[in-house]
Parts: sequence; structure tokens; C-alpha cells
Amino acid sequence: MSEHLVNELRETLAAARSQFEYLRDLGVESLGTCPPAENKVSQGPAHAAAQESLDDIHLDLGDCQRCGLAESRTRLVYGVGNPNARLVLVGEAPGREEDLRGEPFVGEAGRLLDRILAAMGMQRKDVYICNVLKCRPPNNRDPLPEEVATCEAFLVRQIAAIRPQVVVGLGRFAVHSLLKTRIPISQLRGEWQNYHGIPLMPTYHPAYLLRNPEGKRDVWEDMKSVLRLMNAEVEG
Ligand code: SF4
Repeated sequence: MSEHLVNELRETLAAARSQFEYLRDLGVESLGTCPPAENKVSQGPAHAAAQESLDDIHLDLGDCQRCGLAESRTRLVYGVGNPNARLVLVGEAPGREEDLRGEPFVGEAGRLLDRILAAMGMQRKDVYICNVLKCRPPNNRDPLPEEVATCEAFLVRQIAAIRPQVVVGLGRFAVHSLLKTRIPISQLRGEWQNYHGIPLMPTYHPAYLLRNPEGKRDVWEDMKSVLRLMNAEVEG
């Protein structure tokens, strides 16, 4: 057996193990409760050519100094993943580890997000992951309204370039920023919203789930809704 095949098998087994562990955490005993895991990342009209690419936007962002967060950041965290993703996940802002590595959702919360994706039959390379803010607020304080107002235009352009079928807002701050609302996340989660014409599912942030594991079942319900919508669009 070739080394390439062995590596692929290893990755598949690791993904299956991660999916099983997340579902076991939730108390889900049968994988039959999951909707079919689709992994078709570049189909449908939502992927017609965008006017500007993610690289164009990244270039425009450059070594951004447009708001005060530039002074305290180590690295700007633009976003990672598939430029043709059907699913975009948006968090709040980089934390300490993300700031150091220049990548969103690393560390423990990122590993939990990976497990949630694996339970959905996906990997990071299938989706796109980014934040409302590209730079870390000092001491993880809440971003200021003017910082959001300045940075958000880049997020809007990123999502317009990707044109996903679904956006998932991760956590209170991201959802409030995206939807311009102050309705508690506990009331918003699980209900489809509209973000610039794209269905948006609000759900809890993985960091919240680390502190409140009982919220994992709600997140799984939200992700099942996401999969149902994505699968319906593929089939329809
Ligand atoms: S948070 Fe956004 S607007 Fe502010 S410096 Fe960073 S990239 Fe620029």
C-alpha cells in the first residue's frame, strides 16, 4: 500500500474517531440520527465567479492600521479555509493563541470546533473560518463599536467573495455584530436569520461550550439544521 494511501486512511480514521467522540459527548447513541454528511464544496449557483477574490481583499487589508487594535496585535488573523466553501463560520476576534499564530480558532476552542465539523462530516479544508475582527483586542476585552464598524467591511467582502450557502455565527458577540441586534444568543440560536441574503444560523461559541458542556446538544441541533439546509440545496 502506498504511503499516500496510508496517510489518507489515517486521516479518515482520525476524522471518524473525532466525529464519534463528539457525538458520544452529546449522548447521541446512534449515528442514524445524523443527516447525511455532505462534502460537496464547490457546487451550486452560490459559487458563481465573485467580483473580487479573497486574495484581493487580503492584499487590500495589508498591514492594516485602520483602527487602534493594530497597535497591540502580534499578527493579523485574516481567515482560513476553502475559498469556495459552502459553509462559513464567523467568530468574534482572535484570542491569544490566534494572535500569536495568525490563524483563527486554534487552541482548545479550535479543537472543539474541529470536532463539531468532523461530526458534520467536514474538515477545516472544506469550510471557511474567520472572525468579525481581524486583530486581538488587548486582554480579550470586548471590541469597541468603532473597531467593529471599521473592520466589518472586510468580513462583508470576504463573505461576498466566497458566496457560501450558509453562514454560522459563533457566539454572542459575533452574532450581535452580524445581525445588529442585542437579543440574547440563547434566544437567537437555532433560528434561521438573514445575513445579506444568506441564511445565517446563530449558535454558541466553542469557548462557551468548554465552560458549559451542556450547550453541546443545542449546538448539535443547530448544526443538524445547517446540514439539512445544505443537503436540501444540493438535492433541490
Ligand atoms: S481590527 Fe480590522 S480594522 Fe482594526 S487594525 Fe485590525 S484589520 Fe484593521
